[in-house]
Amino acid sequence: MAAGFITVSYIGAAILFILSLAGLSQQETARRGNIYGVTGMVIAIVATIFGLQTGNFAVLLPAVIVGALIGVFVASKVEMTQMPQLVAILHSFVGLAAVLVGVASFLDPGAHFEGTEKTIHEVEIFLGVFIGAITFTGSIIAFGKLQGTISGKPLMLPARHWLNLVAILASIWMGYMFLAAPTTDAGLTPLLVMTVIALLLGIHLVAAIGGADMPVVVSMLNSYSGWAAAATGFMLSNDLLIVTGALVGSSGAILSYIMCRAMNRNFVAVIMGGFGTAGGSAAAVPQGEVVATTSEEVAAMLSDSKEVVIVPGYGMAVSQAQGVVSEITKRLRAKKINVRFGIHPVAGRLPGHMNVLLAEAKVPYDIVLEMDEINDDLPHADVVLVIGANDIVNPGALEDPNSPIAGMPVLEVWKAKTVVVFKRSMATGYAGVDNPLFYKENTRMLFGDAKKMLDGILQHLPA
Ligand code: NDP
Repeated sequence: MAAGFITVSYIGAAILFILSLAGLSQQETARRGNIYGVTGMVIAIVATIFGLQTGNFAVLLPAVIVGALIGVFVASKVEMTQMPQLVAILHSFVGLAAVLVGVASFLDPGAHFEGTEKTIHEVEIFLGVFIGAITFTGSIIAFGKLQGTISGKPLMLPARHWLNLVAILASIWMGYMFLAAPTTDAGLTPLLVMTVIALLLGIHLVAAIGGADMPVVVSMLNSYSGWAAAATGFMLSNDLLIVTGALVGSSGAILSYIMCRAMNRNFVAVIMGGFGTAGGSAAAVPQGEVVATTSEEVAAMLSDSKEVVIVPGYGMAVSQAQGVVSEITKRLRAKKINVRFGIHPVAGRLPGHMNVLLAEAKVPYDIVLEMDEINDDLPHADVVLVIGANDIVNPGALEDPNSPIAGMPVLEVWKAKTVVVFKRSMATGYAGVDNPLFYKENTRMLFGDAKKMLDGILQHLPA
């Protein structure tokens, strides 16, 4: 394929990726953004496969086909609730690819770099392998924590910050040895030693971070995977990979920053880990009696109200209740009751998790508001339905300075006239802290699977 055609394809794909990111930033345009992204990726893959860098189609094409089939199979099977794990494991592949390409690029007998060019190429390799190795193991640990195969509790080794510092200094030293090595054979040892250090560092960095900070970690690993891809792009002199890597790297970093702001956490404190260990908080002890209610009572409450706010959380995703939520919304709106949704930035297990489910259930976008847009209106709500949400409506975050989630902005649902909390038991949410909301005078607990309870409400709501 002509080099000019590949350049044009790469530019086209890069523009489509930028348009894709722009589209994905708004619910109304997200579908279009997705199509841009898929189209850009198809163009990029075809141009790369038939481009000038490869000729070994007998190996490449079966690998692409098998990879694509696995991708289609996994994506069609995965539940929305398992999406963060899927994203985490996909990042690990990017990290692994950066390590393998880096080592292969270093050993490539066809590569002839001299002088400054050689140094630059080796720095690219070293950085790509370093970031890739951290991303690889870090993402696997994040996957394990999200999947529940590894405990969500932060691993607090003694002197852990010193361990990280020693690992980084040792890697810098290996970098010096690598660049100073006179031959490929001599350079391989420091490269591989650094790889092992970086693999361990990735495990340690993410193992030290508690479950409640996993959203930030996944988005941070997303950013790392982007930088690893960009470094790989430099190694391979592939402009599109550099642009794409930089887009992923910077958007992941910005998303991590936005999420930290949403949780009122300091980014550096998050990646240094240890969150979720504070013990002895009063919030961990149940604080009184709870008042249970029934679907029928809630249906009556809703029928008598003028302002209803629905706050969905992880439990709505688990019980797949979005369809019936949408149905109830339609029925209430038909009775001229103002129904709106309040979405916390880290509701569920993935940024945008709730928005995707509500969009899938055809809830109109204009009644789905962000936390900051609805918080001031909550005191005027007659009924707030908290559907499978827990941490994001925990007043302890604002009232209890000892709470592990102290300082995290939350939806202040307790200010409404009545709050109905849908959950199956008194179990804690993701952060593992008790919720004083359940014991407030104006709170009613509707125990049971959210979908079943909502089906019951729908039955008692006149059509
Ligand atoms: P939480 O995990 O705090 O609470 C979910 C609640 O849903 C639980 O109290 C659970 O109670 C209930 N629940 C579970 N299944 C059902 C069901 N079938 N029917 C009814 N209720 C059910 O979720 P939130 O959305 O409030 O908060 C998100 C948490 O996840 C935050 O701590 C956030 O930091 C973290 N997180 C967020 C990510 C993101 O990007 N959004 C990613 C990873 C973590 P019970 O078991 O009693 O039913």
